[in-house]
Amino acid sequence: MSNETRYEVLTVAEIHDLVTTVLLANGCDAENAGAIADTVSSAERDGCLSHGLFRMPGYVQSLRCGAVDGKARPGVTQTAPSVLRADLNLGFSPLALVLTRPRLIELTRSQGIAALGLVRGHHFAALWPEVEALAEAGLIAMAYTASRAAVAPAGAKQRFFGTNPMAFAFPRGDKPPVVFDQASAAMARGEIQIAARDGHQVPPGMGIDLDGNPTTDPKSILDGAQLPFGGYKGSAIALMVELLSAGLLGDHFGYEAHEKANPASGVQQSGELIIALDPSRFGDPGWLQHSEAFFARLTGMGGVRLPADRRRQVRAVTTREGVKVSRPLLEEIRRLE
Ligand code: NDP
Repeated sequence: MSNETRYEVLTVAEIHDLVTTVLLANGCDAENAGAIADTVSSAERDGCLSHGLFRMPGYVQSLRCGAVDGKARPGVTQTAPSVLRADLNLGFSPLALVLTRPRLIELTRSQGIAALGLVRGHHFAALWPEVEALAEAGLIAMAYTASRAAVAPAGAKQRFFGTNPMAFAFPRGDKPPVVFDQASAAMARGEIQIAARDGHQVPPGMGIDLDGNPTTDPKSILDGAQLPFGGYKGSAIALMVELLSAGLLGDHFGYEAHEKANPASGVQQSGELIIALDPSRFGDPGWLQHSEAFFARLTGMGGVRLPADRRRQVRAVTTREGVKVSRPLLEEIRRLE
């Protein structure tokens, strides 16, 4: 098959329109559809394919089976001077993240540090959009969410932890913030699903089959278990993410999300914790210049790039030239309208 047959080039705005149309036709209201379209189209714009259009059949499936309320609004309570709790009322996360952000920013600026716990929601996406937005407002931000059990803890042969991503963003004044966003699994599940769909093997060390044997076959890993990155160290990070987003907030641990998931839905309920810090409130008026000297030394070493640089480079190209989208995926999504 030639490249022209396999792919279609869409602008980011066309992707946004397609996502909005599909979600409106499947039970989302305009605000939820718009917020999800922002999330999905920005993932495609930045080359994060495992959290872009690839997720659309899952969004629609979860709406059609009634597992997720496409018209939900979060209910927000302040549980301490610097702590907010948002009940997503079984909706999707993107709109709740947008609606709660101004209050989190305001609280962080007044208290120096603030946290937002989001519960009873469905997080289908990458975490970088929420921490990047906070860093663009001048704050340092961290986010954690536990997903459905998929990863074998170090030493185990069965899945227990979710793929449990964590993200971090640090503001840089007039420059774009430094942002990293990584799963605790050696590879994001979406990447393994894409490899299974496209018939590729994955590199060694990503997962084990149902009997606990190492394999590079994505389908066997999806049936068996993924592995944490860095052995017991990634396993400890996955444990921390479970405790912060489920133990602390009272939402599902990865194994609970797995056991309680609606099989028709393909998406699980999960909690998310966001912590934000105002660097101007920690007593060093020179924090920005000091940190910039650090970045200059780091990137001056050669061979080093800052996390988020790849995304921004992809963004510059796709904004100019459009996004190459797999044609079979597009056809599948258009059938959902
Ligand atoms: P990657 O391993 O692709 O990247 C992790 C981070 O490392 C990124 O910030 C990336 O920046 C950075 N990075 C990669 N290579 C380098 C390098 N050579 N030098 C410096 N930095 C580098 O991500 P994962 O596969 O671990 O995760 C993919 C996504 O899946 C995440 O966005 C995560 O939030 C999401 N996810 C969501 C879940 C959910 O339940 N909602 C569950 C699990 C994962 P850059 O982007 O610039 O390459």
